[in-house]
Amino acid sequence: MTKLSEQYLTFDNSEGLIDENLYNMIIDCFDKKYKDICDFFNYGELLKTSIVPAPNYKGVAATYTETGKVIMGTKYYEQHKLDADSLIHEWIHVAQRYPQFEPGWLTEGLADYGREKFGVYNKEAGWALPKYNPKHHYTQAYRVTASFLIWLEDNVDKDINWKLNDLLKKGAYTDNCWVEFTGKTVDELWDDYAKANS
Ligand SMILES: [Zn+2]
Repeated sequence: MTKLSEQYLTFDNSEGLIDENLYNMIIDCFDKKYKDICDFFNYGELLKTSIVPAPNYKGVAATYTETGKVIMGTKYYEQHKLDADSLIHEWIHVAQRYPQFEPGWLTEGLADYGREKFGVYNKEAGWALPKYNPKHHYTQAYRVTASFLIWLEDNVDKDINWKLNDLLKKGAYTDNCWVEFTGKTVDELWDDYAKANS
């Protein structure tokens, strides 16, 4: 059987900029989870994507959603040789392909929500979602928002994250969608989350 990575992923590591073990972990993540990612975030359509090691990029990784190209900051990955699941986060951006990545806190929160859900090596990388803390707010994005989204799914509406992604894909997200889905504003839901976890 053809592996998904052979059909949909281009990852040129011929210069050896990415540690070989990490490279293999990333390919493994792709083969195991890319279909699930596209099922959840792109109605099942698989998109081609590529990874390009970037020695001059100072951050972790970034995705160009129009082309599906992901760059990996090689300096970061030299220090984090087990962080394969950071690519899961980026592949979610590939699959999201929203007309606008707004609001940013939600699009990044959903990417880390998906990393929690579809991650393979999060534990090895020392990556986990935080417990609620009074200094948190849902607009902080990334893991803080992802913890909130998981709580909403478990306690308020099991399909809420699928529905949020669906609205974002259609360019139809509004602040009022939270009320339509749950009867409460996002701020009221955040208060409920804070109370339940204090
Ligand atoms: Zn991101």
